[in-house]
Amino acid sequence: MIYLDNNSTTRVLPDILDAMLPYFSTAFFNTTTLAGALYDVARPLSEARERVAELIDCSAEEIILTSGATESNNWVLQSIARHSLRQTGKCHLVVSAIEHPSVLQVASYLAETEGRVEVDLAPVSCEGVIDLAALRDLIRPDTALVSVMLANNETGVIQPVAEAAALAKEINQDCLVHSDATQAVGKITLSLNDNLRDVDFLSLSGHKFHGPKGIGALFIRSGVDLAPYLYGGGQQGGARPGTENPALAAGIAKAAEIATMHLDDRRLESLRSSLEAALCALGVTVLGGGARRLPNTSLLLFEDLDSEMLIHRLAEADFATSSGSACTSGSDSPSHVVLAMGINYSSASGALRISLSHETTQNEVSEFIDVLKPLAQSLKKP
Ligand code: PMP
Repeated sequence: MIYLDNNSTTRVLPDILDAMLPYFSTAFFNTTTLAGALYDVARPLSEARERVAELIDCSAEEIILTSGATESNNWVLQSIARHSLRQTGKCHLVVSAIEHPSVLQVASYLAETEGRVEVDLAPVSCEGVIDLAALRDLIRPDTALVSVMLANNETGVIQPVAEAAALAKEINQDCLVHSDATQAVGKITLSLNDNLRDVDFLSLSGHKFHGPKGIGALFIRSGVDLAPYLYGGGQQGGARPGTENPALAAGIAKAAEIATMHLDDRRLESLRSSLEAALCALGVTVLGGGARRLPNTSLLLFEDLDSEMLIHRLAEADFATSSGSACTSGSDSPSHVVLAMGINYSSASGALRISLSHETTQNEVSEFIDVLKPLAQSLKKP
């Protein structure tokens, strides 16, 4: 199979698998036991925190390992909302309209079930970039949290998170800022010590950069309080209890180390440009094509075509692609991201997402173009 769906998940690379294997077999012990201490099975956990911290330029003490970005996002939104409700009896959240469901659905769950939680959605431009002027109007002196993703999973469009964070702090210095950086981490250079210094919480996930599924992290800025989301044993200082998983930790540590060699990948960007140029003649629009994007992502809008059908036919020809978010594909309604960019409901079903990895070759992209062109022509609605 030619795999062009790396934003949904990535292959665990052989070196990463090798780093994990001993912790499933010879060194399988619980980190809290004597055997665990003798075999030093806690080492991959501290290595994971160190390597992830290097990747996003923060300190290892600011990293808590979680089961992935869904947990990290839930943790931040739910804990902040509860804290704000306890402190002030109300809670105001601002999240962007193009967030992943693991932010959007938590926000709407909170608004529906926790009386007095108000949620405002910040709109985006037709290029899929958050509208900072509209965001400014939504943030209030009592806003508890602003959450803006670093890069969108469907379009790859990079969001002005540093500007959004500075804006939030300017309006309310106590307002906390969260960024779901799941798609950006491991693809572009990020610095929580530099341009992202106003960001308080940042979520990431190992399986988006060739690590294993089921492990991710939450960055919590030093000095910022976040009540635990889970309660149990004292693991990770009680911040995130639950038996630790050295194998997954060894995997994300190695994945983070390898990812540092593939940030801001110019080869990928030119591979993507060649793909987009070749498809131009088919009347394809590149959604967010005028904005700054991750180097690997292309969201193509085909006119007069239902992309679900195209994706199935591509799969039969051994090409893995998707219509956008893996989590919402399969549902009949078009993507909320494409709709938020002002594309009308009937056209929005023509979106096809191609997401490359540093493993993708020029040959694979050329083969894909050769298969896609006639398929797209044949599936056009009359
Ligand atoms: N946020 C974004 C932007 C994502 O793309 C994803 C994965 N599709 C998630 C959150 C959820 O990540 P995880 O699979 O680690 O729970």
